[in-house]
Amino acid sequence: STEQSVTVIGLGPMGQAMAGAFLDRGYEVTVWNRTASRADALVTRGAVLAPSVEEALASNELVILSLTDYDAMYATLEPAAAALTGRTLVNLSSDTPERARTAARWAAERGAVQLTGGVTVPPSGIGQAESSTFYSGPRQVFDQHRPALEVITGRTDHRGEDPGLAALMYQIGMVMFWTSMLSYWQAITLADANGLEAADILPHAVETANSLPGFFSFYAERIDAGRHSGDVDRLAMGMASVEHVLHTNADAGVDTTLPAAVVELFRRGMDAGHAADSFSALVELMKKAEA
Ligand code: NDP
Repeated sequence: STEQSVTVIGLGPMGQAMAGAFLDRGYEVTVWNRTASRADALVTRGAVLAPSVEEALASNELVILSLTDYDAMYATLEPAAAALTGRTLVNLSSDTPERARTAARWAAERGAVQLTGGVTVPPSGIGQAESSTFYSGPRQVFDQHRPALEVITGRTDHRGEDPGLAALMYQIGMVMFWTSMLSYWQAITLADANGLEAADILPHAVETANSLPGFFSFYAERIDAGRHSGDVDRLAMGMASVEHVLHTNADAGVDTTLPAAVVELFRRGMDAGHAADSFSALVELMKKAEA
């Protein structure tokens, strides 16, 4: 293996984009995928398809993993565990922080070191200068491989030694992504019930979403200071508003799972005596699993 040489295991849309980015930068790229045909286009571009996982691991010290989840990693690497000694596994498969920590121990027991990664962009963002990935695990291993990691996404953010931290940052982004996108589906559903198409409400939806960062910043400071005074908004006001949202959706005959869940959280806040506090007081409630 040379200075600019890497193995990529897992050739879904993400792994393919990563292997392609390395080829574009002149790296020697060895690939392996359970379904070998997914390597065809990369082989045409100069990648070497390893005939086995063992050989894929043997080819390079630096091994990028882009699999569906950590179970897929165990399924792939367990049978080839003897070849893991001395390898750096950059695991860009998403899973829970706890599973990332367990996998780091699993790798260490086999003489390998894991860097956990959480890529924040879709395949089209791979290889782009402005794209970013969270990493965690040994700092020195991260520093050593930084040039290669910056091929995957131009920006990198090492969060600390704990292998779970990158997965945590990834999941923080994902909880926002999925719930926000569902809020958009809800808006589209309500619009549809009223004869409007997604395109009709797009400017309004975008403007609404664009207003959110201002709220994030405003509340972050107050929440960190434990300040939930009802000087700008009161939970009781929010309660009335979210009930209007629920009733509007119910009247339209569309699914109300999401607005009903929001009303439920507000109601718990009211029951806990936060009526005169800001709706940010819900954070205190949400810090604990519901009894
Ligand atoms: P895919 O699920 O499409 O690709 C998964 C890869 O894992 C394939 O190469 C597949 O092999 C392999 N795989 C799955 N199960 C097994 C198994 N049991 N044994 C061996 N190989 C297996 O994922 P993506 O490429 O889209 O993404 C990869 C990772 O990146 C995921 O963890 C995803 O959450 C994360 N991610 C994805 C983003 C996206 O926009 N796609 C954005 C950010 C992160 P085979 O080809 O044989 O099926």
